[in-house]
Amino acid sequence: MKLGVPKETVAGERRVALVPDTVAKLVKDGHEVQVEPGAGSAAGFTDDAYRAAGAKPGDAWTADIVCKVQKPTAAEVGKLRENAALVGQFQAATSPDLLQQLAQRRITTFSLELLPRITRAQAMDVLSSQATAAGYKAVLLAAETTPKFFPMLVTAAGTLSPARVLVLGAGVAGLQAIATARRLGAIVSAFDVRAAVKEQVESLGAKFLVMEEQVQAEGAGGYAKELSADQHQRELDFLARSVKDADVVITTAAIPGKRAPVLVTRAAVEGMRPGAVIVDLAAETGGNCELTQVGTTVVHQGVTILGPVNLPATLPLHASQMYSRNIATFLGHVVKDGKLQPDMADEITKATCVTHEGKVLRS
Ligand code: NAD
Repeated sequence: MKLGVPKETVAGERRVALVPDTVAKLVKDGHEVQVEPGAGSAAGFTDDAYRAAGAKPGDAWTADIVCKVQKPTAAEVGKLRENAALVGQFQAATSPDLLQQLAQRRITTFSLELLPRITRAQAMDVLSSQATAAGYKAVLLAAETTPKFFPMLVTAAGTLSPARVLVLGAGVAGLQAIATARRLGAIVSAFDVRAAVKEQVESLGAKFLVMEEQVQAEGAGGYAKELSADQHQRELDFLARSVKDADVVITTAAIPGKRAPVLVTRAAVEGMRPGAVIVDLAAETGGNCELTQVGTTVVHQGVTILGPVNLPATLPLHASQMYSRNIATFLGHVVKDGKLQPDMADEITKATCVTHEGKVLRS
């Protein structure tokens, strides 16, 4: 099949959907890959590298399957061939207009943030691969912002105590943040409403914080579910006490399809040490801290609150490399004998296919 890799046009997006290594494998499997000139340059992949991998420079939008990182614009949707396919992460749940446009052009769209978190889908799991990049980068941002060293230092000028890092939400990003903060020498603790993560947190050398009266919010598919108002209030009180000792708080809590839960209130921030840093990875979905402002940094009574957006794009080479392998594995799942053959009875295909044969299937 003819696969297309356009250059991403969203501001600040430096990733590319397929990297040269993956292109070489796809070409070997009999696909033709058209890469828009400059598509990989912001991630460190030159047009020459794509050519050497067997790609053809050209109009990526006229391919049979167009591979993307970000949502296409309305103008880009207009460039797609009727009955073509589109693969990427399109935030289908919050993009009804886009899905309508794609259905009108009879595009088969696969939105990979909807992949079920099952073992069979692990190699396609874009949420996990990109959350790994975000969790790592969040710690680097915190280390850059805190006025302290992360590790304990014993020097001729005295002994410096290590930074105390608290990670709220121990999913993929949170676990990566814990591992990264530990590697930098911090003392790390973590909290999550899913008790199942306790062991994973401890295996990374961090302490798992336990509420006096534990809340349990294990939802479907390994995700958390929303807490009741009473449970949430108890959690807020508990966390307000927990953040007092932290030099750095990294928040990653999310509930699929919902606004991110508030975990750190204004009052809790006001109880933190001056110089403390909060990195709110949930900024784009409403923020885990009441004072977070998306895409910017707020300083409130000496506490710095970062609300970064699209952190994976700030590690574009490795984030693209992982994303590209996710996409290629997914293509292997839906393309059979050189043809797109989505099996709508299959759990992975059914969950991710949001437009097909002129219809919006799900959002
Ligand atoms: P996520 O981004 O949806 O949420 C991040 C974390 O926030 C989760 O651990 C969640 O429990 C936590 N959280 C939600 N509300 C909270 C609250 N009020 N207070 C504290 N923490 C709160 O999660 P994710 O990283 O996408 O992971 C979701 C699940 O999928 C996990 O169980 C993960 O292990 C699982 N997973 C499975 C596979 C697989 O088997 N294929 C792959 C990746 C992830």
